[in-house]
Amino acid sequence: MASIVVVGGGLAGLVCGARLLRAGHDVELFEAASSVGGRLRPIETEHGLLEPAVGEVGWADANLRALVASLGLDPSTEGQVERAHALVLGGRLHRPPPLRAAEFLFPRISPRMDRPIDAVFRRPPRWRDRRPVVRAIWDSLRQSSLEAPDSVYALDDVPWQRVSIRAFGTRWCTTRLAPALLARTGVDLSAESAAIVMPMLARLLASAGRSVQLAGGLSSLVAALAAPLRIRVGCRVERLETTTDGVRIRYRSGGRSGGALADAAVIALPPSEILQICPKLSPVERGHFESIEPRRSIVIHRRVSQDAWLLRGLAGVTFVPGELPDMRDLRILGAPPEPYAKEPFWVRVSLDHESVDAHWNDSDQALIHKLDSTFRGSPLGALPEGASRVERLDEIISIQGRGALARRERFHRRSERSPRLAFATSALATPDLEGRVTVGMRAAAEAVGELDRLSRLSSSDVPGRNPMG
Ligand SMILES: Cc1cc2nc3c(=O)[nH]c(=O)nc-3n(C[C@H](O)[C@H](O)[C@H](O)COP(=O)(O)OP(=O)(O)OC[C@H]3O[C@@H](n4cnc5c(N)ncnc54)[C@H](O)[C@@H]3O)c2cc1C
Repeated sequence: MASIVVVGGGLAGLVCGARLLRAGHDVELFEAASSVGGRLRPIETEHGLLEPAVGEVGWADANLRALVASLGLDPSTEGQVERAHALVLGGRLHRPPPLRAAEFLFPRISPRMDRPIDAVFRRPPRWRDRRPVVRAIWDSLRQSSLEAPDSVYALDDVPWQRVSIRAFGTRWCTTRLAPALLARTGVDLSAESAAIVMPMLARLLASAGRSVQLAGGLSSLVAALAAPLRIRVGCRVERLETTTDGVRIRYRSGGRSGGALADAAVIALPPSEILQICPKLSPVERGHFESIEPRRSIVIHRRVSQDAWLLRGLAGVTFVPGELPDMRDLRILGAPPEPYAKEPFWVRVSLDHESVDAHWNDSDQALIHKLDSTFRGSPLGALPEGASRVERLDEIISIQGRGALARRERFHRRSERSPRLAFATSALATPDLEGRVTVGMRAAAEAVGELDRLSRLSSSDVPGRNPMG
């Protein structure tokens, strides 16, 4: 039994820790905050706890679904919900059906939604550019191994925005493709490598708009993963180094410094934090983490108790750029509320990427005022009154950009990596919850494989010696 430390108690770290524990290892998790959950940690409000993310499991999110089922949180097919997502375009609220695979071949069969401005900026699709994208989507849908197909690789050096507009044209991209992806992932994917977007697009198509509601929300998933683990909360790791005999960890807890030694470590932190605590990364590791662009975000939560609000029954609304100044989308948190039902719920409105920097230093009151006045003048009408909560999130997603897949593949080659270290970080995952779960599982397997390799190495050096002591 090897001792393995996991640093960071977000979703990826918890998944990894749970896997390692199940594989029979001695696992300890170090978490800087006073409780685990990371960016999924509920926010305390005067109306109780607010879950900051949508507790939705896509039908085709294979690893997330398997995890949820193994923890007994999957309500199976009874919990299957259609999360209808609307969009605001041309000053109107549209409720388009889920994206179908055939539309990628023939965007003309899509429901037609126009706005006058598209006539000016319209860029028509080109079949020559569409063919490699359709091929990559098809291959991603059929993919059975971890290796990305060649057709996906071929799209690695171009940002998704450029690839999609060339292949499908501005009209279909702004009215169908981008809103469908945003509704599913919650992330603006335009700057990502097109190859990174392919698996998410394949999952979106395979699930055909279906998802499973997580029983008890994301906090029950966090609690179920954390329950069997040995966790040191309030323990910030300040330095982590690998030596010949193990991984040395220096941490700070309750105002005091301490140290620990383990056979291996998995680091489940955002890339900027990894760079701070690990001074001796290999060039490939450092280069990979430095290539990631952190993106910050401002979200405003509003508690809605009005029983006849226009958006009750929906899962969210995407604002096509320019429709609601500075706003990107609105998401209903938790299960979509029944129309006319009495129970209150929270909505989350995200500012669009370009507006975040401009409004970062605005006061909470100014942001709430801006939200209300923007909605009053929109086709959605006034946002119902209620408690509001503004959150500024420093590193909500990590943009991996052009060439991400190639950098990731290189990263995964153990020969260029620090011994005894594995990473469960957003810099190696698709930017959605399925990505975080997958990267946690993969890091657990990598840590075990690395310990096996070291064990074989040292038993071949000194016959009869037990390398793990
Ligand atoms: C409003 C909102 C919207 C979101 N939208 C999306 C989305 O659309 N797509 C998406 O992919 N994700 C989104 N997320 C983030 C989502 O929550 C993440 O996908 C996921 O939870 C990240 O998990 P993680 O384990 O990678 O990292 P984190 O949740 O960030 O966990 C890292 C943990 O490490 C701890 N830690 C940090 N430094 C140290 C240290 N030195 N020592 C010990 N512990 C440390 C932190 O306290 C934290 O608990 C959103 C989150 C919020 C709040």
